[in-house]
Amino acid sequence: MTNDILAHFGIKSSGDVIARSPIDGAELARVSYDSAASVEKKIAASAEAFKAWRDVPAPRRGELVRLFGEELRANKEQLGKLVTLEAGKIVQEGLGEVQEMIDICDFAVGLSRQLYGLTIASERPGHRMMETWHPAGPVAVISAFNFPVAVWAWNAALAIVCGDSVIWKPSEKTPLTALATQALFARAVKKFGSAPANLSQVVLGLRDVGELLAKDARIPVVSATGSTRMGRELAPVVAARFGKSILELGGNNAMIVAPSAKLDLAQRAITFAAVGTAGQRCTTLRRLFVHESVYDKLVPALKKIYAGLPIGNPLDAKTLVGPLIDEAAFEGMERALASARDEGGKIAGGGRALEDKFANGYYVHPAIVEMPEQSKTVCHETFAPILYVMKYSNFEDALAKHNAVPQGLSSCVFTADMQEAERFIAASGSDCGIANVNIGPSGAEIGGAFGGEKETGGGRESGSDAWKAYMRRQTATINYSDALPLAQGIEFAV
Ligand code: NAD
Repeated sequence: MTNDILAHFGIKSSGDVIARSPIDGAELARVSYDSAASVEKKIAASAEAFKAWRDVPAPRRGELVRLFGEELRANKEQLGKLVTLEAGKIVQEGLGEVQEMIDICDFAVGLSRQLYGLTIASERPGHRMMETWHPAGPVAVISAFNFPVAVWAWNAALAIVCGDSVIWKPSEKTPLTALATQALFARAVKKFGSAPANLSQVVLGLRDVGELLAKDARIPVVSATGSTRMGRELAPVVAARFGKSILELGGNNAMIVAPSAKLDLAQRAITFAAVGTAGQRCTTLRRLFVHESVYDKLVPALKKIYAGLPIGNPLDAKTLVGPLIDEAAFEGMERALASARDEGGKIAGGGRALEDKFANGYYVHPAIVEMPEQSKTVCHETFAPILYVMKYSNFEDALAKHNAVPQGLSSCVFTADMQEAERFIAASGSDCGIANVNIGPSGAEIGGAFGGEKETGGGRESGSDAWKAYMRRQTATINYSDALPLAQGIEFAV
């Protein structure tokens, strides 16, 4: 199947780097990494492409994105499967990721006719002042393994309609889905007919390739998705040359389950958010605050659901929990569970699964860990299916603990109490970029701006007015009078 899918996208296996599947560790194909010289050449080509693309009218640029969306629709199944093969997501989630790309393309097409500026009242007679949004330049997209294609699309679909060129450095763990996506983009470019060469390019490599993009002053915008460690290293490099970064970093997302919560809905939301993508979403539910009055009902019910979760090959339609991305992820989970135990945690689940079947695939039993308090381990993002559960008696205390972690991505409350719901999304409520009521923390729609605060990096991508980050703002004032009045009434007689 792998070879058929790769052939479908015209990807030839060649090079000295092996791309492996987390399903069983098998080789999927070989690729080559870009050298520093090749990265340099691609940045120069991107700068050239930008010069031509910025002058193409935005609605016309939208037409290219529309055509790309058509390619995604026609190839959704194949690309979704490749996501499963390369990132280990279950088939439904692989397809969902491609659907998210289609959705953002639709959004961007509409946006291509709505890159609105303002007309501003001038204080000077015979003057008109306006604000215009212009294309910014080449945009670098550095992406993480867990959303190997959607994150690029959130950035690229907007950047392309905004008149920018794009250079994509995908995760070293998912080069093939990037190449497949580029192949689809190339097909759209061909149908479009008149796009400049190299409008969208891929550079493959380890973090040093990302560092080359971060350093380069020809790239005004670097959108980087990944760990907080990565953002902490990258942001000062981009800032040192006064570039802009859009940072989408780690999360440590929580839910508060209040006494009035509909527990059946909460259970389903918790399970999807905590074990979906094997706990490897930036928005995965990692901390659960449960009111003491419902704790003894909810937590045993969750443990029962967890005990029956179908863990297995993500290509199998019945599987709900696929593999972790690699051995290092498994070791990270083991370490976190050991420290949580040392801190007084009571663990249900955890440990390796299906080792006999997949010696080189890292499948785990998702874990529920009842914690006496929000310890150091709980405050850290471990990228694996570990759900730390804590009991609360007072809503304000739960809210304070909810906010007392370094990350600020996604959050939610399950309650039927209007005061609690409003309190949660008020200015002094959740401090996260995403705050939901009676919905889990993961699975955001593309229409809203996506991102988070504090160590999550502060970036916003996708919907709302996130497009502004891919453009430069210009304030222009036109004098159509016969005089030259100065602002603030300044007299300067010459
Ligand atoms: P990672 O930080 O290891 O790598 C992400 C990307 O950054 C890769 O392409 C990598 O090569 C590159 N990179 C690493 N160090 C770099 C540096 N110093 N300079 C430039 N590039 C560098 O992350 P990962 O393991 O692939 O992904 C998991 C992490 O990503 C989790 O922390 C998760 O929460 C986060 N994530 C966040 C979001 C979000 O939208 N907030 C979305 C997906 C994933």
